[in-house]
Amino acid sequence: MGLMKAPENTPVWVDESRCKACDICVSVCPAGTLAMVYDSSSTLGAMVKVIEPGSCIGCNECELSCPDFAIFVADKSEFKFAKLTPEAKERAEKIKANNYMLVE
Ligand code: SF4
Ligand code: SF4
Repeated sequence: MGLMKAPENTPVWVDESRCKACDICVSVCPAGTLAMVYDSSSTLGAMVKVIEPGSCIGCNECELSCPDFAIFVADKSEFKFAKLTPEAKERAEKIKANNYMLVE
């Protein structure tokens, strides 16, 4: 009930109305697909963004870890996910080292 309809051809998406900007999904993403960005319209001042959709490996860790059921991963039968690359791993490490914020 109330869950967002899956957008077409999208590996991972966020229901911003449910997201509490807790960073957990960013902390578990191995591929640097997600990062927090400053967002003045959010009460918490930040919001999670899918910054590199093409890097998502479909591991589901974000969806399984989100305490608010605010992030969703496409079904493997409906989306061809990427393989984890060294570049993606490096981006993930930089984001984590930057307190989960987007590295410009
Ligand atoms: S884990 Fe869920 S609530 Fe927390 S930032 Fe990610 S999508 Fe938002
Ligand atoms: S499914 Fe895995 S790789 Fe894709 S955004 Fe979620 S945690 Fe990151």
